Amino acid sequence: MIYDYRCKKCDNEFEEWLRMSEREEPMKNPCAELVDDEPCGGEIVQAVSAMAIGDSIRLGIKKPSGEFNAVMEKIHHGTVGSKLDSKMSQNQDRKQDTLSDRLKKYEK
Ligand SMILES: [Zn+2]
Repeated sequence: MIYDYRCKKCDNEFEEWLRMSEREEPMKNPCAELVDDEPCGGEIVQAVSAMAIGDSIRLGIKKPSGEFNAVMEKIHHGTVGSKLDSKMSQNQDRKQDTLSDRLKKYEK
């Protein structure tokens, strides 16, 4: 099992391949990263692993009926918008028609 750790002080991140029972061992020692040639000594915390992030994304997909509704609303608005757009373009066509009609009158 790979565990990710991060130093609170210098943001140094590292991975340790440990048994689950050993996962708190790296947090017992201060950060050994050299900052200005001195050991950082910052507090080590367990970082969120890529696997945990993957889980939260999966949970996010499972949960969100609200988000789904929002997407549906967007789609709904999108269709309304496109209808309006087609109406607008129809109006523009009519304007162009009347313009060309006027031009035809001038031509006569
Ligand atoms: Zn550090």
